Amino acid sequence: MSILVVGSVALDSLETPFGKREEVPGGSATFFSTAASFFGPVQLVGVVGEDYPPEHLAFLRERGVDLEGLVKAAGRTFRWKGRYGYDLNDAQTLDTQLNVFGEFRPELPERFRTPSYLFLGNIHPSLQLQVLEQVRERPKLVAMDTMNFWIEGERERLLEVVSKVDLVFINDAEVRQLAQEHNVVKAARMIQARGPRRVVVKRGEYGALLFDDGVVFAAPAYPLEEVFDPTGAGDSFAGGFMGFLAHRAAEIDSHSLRQACVAGSTLASFCVERFSLDRFRDLSKEQIQARLESFRELTDFRAI
Ligand code: AMP
Repeated sequence: MSILVVGSVALDSLETPFGKREEVPGGSATFFSTAASFFGPVQLVGVVGEDYPPEHLAFLRERGVDLEGLVKAAGRTFRWKGRYGYDLNDAQTLDTQLNVFGEFRPELPERFRTPSYLFLGNIHPSLQLQVLEQVRERPKLVAMDTMNFWIEGERERLLEVVSKVDLVFINDAEVRQLAQEHNVVKAARMIQARGPRRVVVKRGEYGALLFDDGVVFAAPAYPLEEVFDPTGAGDSFAGGFMGFLAHRAAEIDSHSLRQACVAGSTLASFCVERFSLDRFRDLSKEQIQARLESFRELTDFRAI
């Protein structure tokens, strides 16, 4: 089961109440592929500039991420600068520099054109469409993510992508903004009405809601004592979700989608424990399994 992701590969500069980091590895494709790699291999499509530190790519390669679709272009890597206050759910973008993403036209290597699972990560909607158009057979699942930057600047193009996917991952503020509807449940239903059968609304420390046909499932976020940096939690959620579906589930059905939500919450919970990708560097499959199991205890009220 192959998973293909297109998204940003970034250098992030971050400020949280717990510290600051300059030019650390980030980007939607980076977090997604790292999280998904705990379940199996991932193919990545994206671009970096000549200034991208090779050790960050070596880390992805060691994790089993296939970088044949990652182009190194003349110029500077995409950069994002963000700040979080004590409400870690609320990311404030201080600066976005598209740099090499401004000119990038993705060209999928032959081997990447028949993925079973496709994730159109947060990036310019035109690039999401270009990748979707190069895929030969319809994958088992096409999912996407986005953010306020593209909802504000590329709304029509973005709605075109929405109409072509099976599942949308989106956070609560963004689903309201995209649907122009304050109520999250109504907003998610409005997005479903535009095409995707399923919508997953990510609600930071309050967990995630899966809208699957007419049914809603709620997965909590893991109650952590230490949260350092929420950056990448959304993409790690999507990586855990799709990695689980591709490599651990026999079918995509309401049962496996619920389990995938918990797998997504699990990977996101590790992501936020340290800055950037740091928690993933020494994370073991056993630790993931133990946390997956503790989610059951967290919500099982029959056992009291
Ligand atoms: P999240 O998982 O939602 O916290 O996404 C965090 C990542 O999104 C950061 O590592 C940023 O590099 C990346 N990012 C921020 N703004 C953009 C943008 N406009 N396009 C693509 N990626 C972005």
